[in-house]
Amino acid sequence: MVKIAVLAKEVPDSDIVDAFAFAGRLQIDPATKTIRRENIAVGMNSYDAQAVEAAMRLRDAGVDCTIQVLSVGGIAPQALFQRSFALGADEGYHLVDNSFAGVDSMGCAHILAAAIRHLGGADLILCGRQGTDYDQGVVGPTVAALLDIPCVSIAKDVRLVSPGIARVVRAIPDGEETVDVELPAVVTISNELGVPRYPTAMAAFAARRKKPVTLSAADIGLDAARVALSGERVRRVEIDIPKREGTCQFLEGNSASDVAAKLAQALSKESVI
Ligand SMILES: Cc1cc2nc3c(=O)[nH]c(=O)nc-3n(C[C@H](O)[C@H](O)[C@H](O)COP(=O)(O)OP(=O)(O)OC[C@H]3O[C@@H](n4cnc5c(N)ncnc54)[C@H](O)[C@@H]3O)c2cc1C
Repeated sequence: MVKIAVLAKEVPDSDIVDAFAFAGRLQIDPATKTIRRENIAVGMNSYDAQAVEAAMRLRDAGVDCTIQVLSVGGIAPQALFQRSFALGADEGYHLVDNSFAGVDSMGCAHILAAAIRHLGGADLILCGRQGTDYDQGVVGPTVAALLDIPCVSIAKDVRLVSPGIARVVRAIPDGEETVDVELPAVVTISNELGVPRYPTAMAAFAARRKKPVTLSAADIGLDAARVALSGERVRRVEIDIPKREGTCQFLEGNSASDVAAKLAQALSKESVI
């Protein structure tokens, strides 16, 4: 039985963040230097949904596997776990502890690595190539380093070609690269993998009854003081919201062709056409 661990992060909905920014309603919390998330829906990082999809494609290909989803923190984690269960994940682990407050990517990776160890290790650890909120792409490779296992990044396809060997196709700027990696390994999944499946209504309904297991720092054998030490090496000094301006010009004319001519002229002036 192949054990697959998928690391999944809760992020604010990017479309809503964009809409808030455009409307001038996006706010930064001056104390934590993070985006205020009140009224912004949260859900699973889209790359992580693709990581779950990668795990499901392995199962579809006949790999006998268990799929665990692990997530640290978050304000409404039930949405992330319900989606994971609906997509086919077998187990969910929610990592929560007071000592996790304020962790950076390194701290987050320490927590995830400790949880994976606590759960008896995994043959394949799938995660997103980056979080869509801060786009750091640090957690996956750091988990690999902490577990002393290889990491293959930015994958568009993962297959098991022989026992203990995964063949990974990486998306690279001018095409793709295929590599074989010995398991256990971390593979970070990119959007080139393709659109994740939609759960059936029946699966979504059944997922509502499933709950993740909650694990604290003590549960996974992590010393709270060590989390604090490992978790605050990078401090965000400033974060800015770019200014976005939209102008709207109404064109008037005597006829449709007159307005169309004015529109063409305006677009040409702005170098749009
Ligand atoms: C409990 C908690 C408290 C936090 N407090 C603060 C704070 O006070 N100030 C602040 O600036 N930031 C805070 N953060 C944000 C924290 O810095 C980021 O979660 C962390 O840096 C990882 O995000 P990233 O963008 O670096 O991930 P990336 O490295 O971009 O993510 C890559 C992949 O790693 C995996 N991954 C990342 N994060 C998680 C996760 N949480 N759970 C499971 N898998 C994950 C996913 O597969 C993801 O696709 C907090 C986070 C948590 C979980």
